[in-house]
Amino acid sequence: MKRARLLGALILLAAASCSRSGSVFRGAPVVVICVDTLRADRLPAYGYRKVETPALDALARDSIVFDNALSHVPLTLPSHVSLFTGLLPFQHGVRDNLGFRLSTAHPTLAAILRKDGYTTGAAVSAVVLDHGSGVSQGFDYWEDGIEARDVAQAMGQLQRPGEETARILETWIDGRAEGQKILAFLHLYEPHTPYDPPEPFRARYRAAPYDGEVAASDAIVGRFVDYLKRKKLYDEALVVFLSDHGEGLGDHGEDEHGVLLYREELHVPLFVKLPKARRAGERVPRPVQIADVLPTVLAAVGAEPPAGLPGRTLLESDRGKSAEPRRVYSETLYPRFHFGWSDLASLSDDRYQYIHAPRAELYDWRADPAEKNDLAAGLPPAFRSMRAELVGIDRPLQSPGASDPETVKKLASLGYIGAAAPTADAKDLPDPKDRLGTIEQLKNANRLVGEFRDGDAIVQLRELARENPSMLDVWESLARVLRRNGRTREALEALERADRLAPGTPQVILGLADLHREAGNFDRARQLATAAGEAGAPGYREELASIALSAGDLVSARREAEAVLAGNVSARAPRLVLARVALAGGDVAGALAQVDGAIRLDRQMGRMPGIGFRAMRGDLLARLGREKEAEAEFVGEVASYPENLDAWARLALLYASQGRPGEPGGILSRMTSRVPTPKSFAMAVHVCGILRDAACERDWARRKGERFPAGG
Ligand SMILES: [Zn+2]
Repeated sequence: MKRARLLGALILLAAASCSRSGSVFRGAPVVVICVDTLRADRLPAYGYRKVETPALDALARDSIVFDNALSHVPLTLPSHVSLFTGLLPFQHGVRDNLGFRLSTAHPTLAAILRKDGYTTGAAVSAVVLDHGSGVSQGFDYWEDGIEARDVAQAMGQLQRPGEETARILETWIDGRAEGQKILAFLHLYEPHTPYDPPEPFRARYRAAPYDGEVAASDAIVGRFVDYLKRKKLYDEALVVFLSDHGEGLGDHGEDEHGVLLYREELHVPLFVKLPKARRAGERVPRPVQIADVLPTVLAAVGAEPPAGLPGRTLLESDRGKSAEPRRVYSETLYPRFHFGWSDLASLSDDRYQYIHAPRAELYDWRADPAEKNDLAAGLPPAFRSMRAELVGIDRPLQSPGASDPETVKKLASLGYIGAAAPTADAKDLPDPKDRLGTIEQLKNANRLVGEFRDGDAIVQLRELARENPSMLDVWESLARVLRRNGRTREALEALERADRLAPGTPQVILGLADLHREAGNFDRARQLATAAGEAGAPGYREELASIALSAGDLVSARREAEAVLAGNVSARAPRLVLARVALAGGDVAGALAQVDGAIRLDRQMGRMPGIGFRAMRGDLLARLGREKEAEAEFVGEVASYPENLDAWARLALLYASQGRPGEPGGILSRMTSRVPTPKSFAMAVHVCGILRDAACERDWARRKGERFPAGG
């Protein structure tokens, strides 16, 4: 007893002297910057020479740099949840970007710091990190107002420029009182596909657009760091810079990320800049993991971490406990949930990586960093020991979809949830590395969608669906492109196939709701949108608002739109709904005030007006006889959003009403060459019909027939 008390006193003494030595920075501002999809070996800080990243180089010079930091999962949402909970994916339960929601039972970094008196704010650049996923738990402010450009866009593609995101976060920081302790999280999505860097990076990295996006991210981080310096926050702050996962870039046959677990998908940059740049220049070669970030930040500011975390603080020296060898766990369930193939898991230590798969692999990544030489065949001791350890980990396979029993019951009553996903516990599934050709085919089809070559895309997607009926992503892509072509019934069939593969996935149900809205099945649409909302789908109230608007129920449309705005003042979609409600009531000036308010807000936030806003403004101005301004709005809309066919049509009709011969035809030609889809040609025919120009109507119908002989 006496002995134990003495030991306890000694430990306390050790802890106290540790904090006296200056490793605890109570109240320090905490800034976490994540550049999504950034491979460590594509940064000069890790030896890459083909890109210039002056801002990150400077940040690295002020930081402790971790040479071998690994992600637990090459997927944005699960990886960020590990960052914020300090838990491994099977511990926090968010196993994929879609169909999972973080349980409120897990304390997050933001929640713990908030208890410690911090105010917590974040701005993110991808819809995958929408607050509906629960990733925002503990944040006072989480700005994720990213809206769809085009119904044919995949969710993973919905993003906004990092520059906008950074400005939003700066505005939030500006609003905090001086001396207030802050946690700020900035998420940039530039290096994620599509690789489309802005100038000057586009020209500078023409042959390597991924590098161009890395350079563009560097510039944004640089401006954000300059802002922190101007605010006198940088010097005092604990800054953590990292990525959530890497990118395949074709090294093992996968171009992007999510399917495979090789090092290029898991090895991420990690810099920790301490206040006053203490320990700047240290390099840490031992393997560390994203789950270590939470205990590191908490230890640095002297806050208590939750018990039982898998990670540990990275600020201890390389001696003692932190020098003990350990293995970092990673996984991906993406191939199972999306393609019906086997999931993968992996363990990495300071020399080997073991990948658990139908055909397991082992690499000596120190000697063979590109992981080209699989050592598994020789069954070396590392293979046996890592395999045994991995098989021994109790990691249940949670399925996507609704998990809360009430929601499941409600969805079941709607006929949209049956048994668990068919692949949930299937065994003997194909090895993803043997099926990469199929992913290539899906990518080709999606590229055709991006180029508006919808007819070819539909043929290819149908073919893929026939050969791989359990590929969720094929059915989703098919539904999106069919819908864009006005083939609503077929789109519904395709999306219902997707729903059967991942029953109750909120985003899929919301997609079904919107298709039913388009098909005029308003009751069904409403039921599904409500169910999707209860299952955690972002944007379900916006959907309810637009269902009400489509159904002519202006009172409900207004109510839903106002409810969305009450929760998120910077939301755009509800403002468009409110403008349409005003217009439907004959209040053109009121409608214009709504649209102007939204565009003003966009300007304040430094973002481009959302799809449809300038077209709507143009329409209202035309009604008020302000034709010159109306024209400028339509022209602006189609320049930003060529897929908005309605805006092209309104521009053509405006020119026709002004008696400008030849110009309406020119607009229709530009529309159909920018967006060469059957729907676009059908719009041209429709415009001619409104103009009562029979020759024009015949001409466009003929062109449509020639281009899409099967009828599109
Ligand atoms: Zn990501």
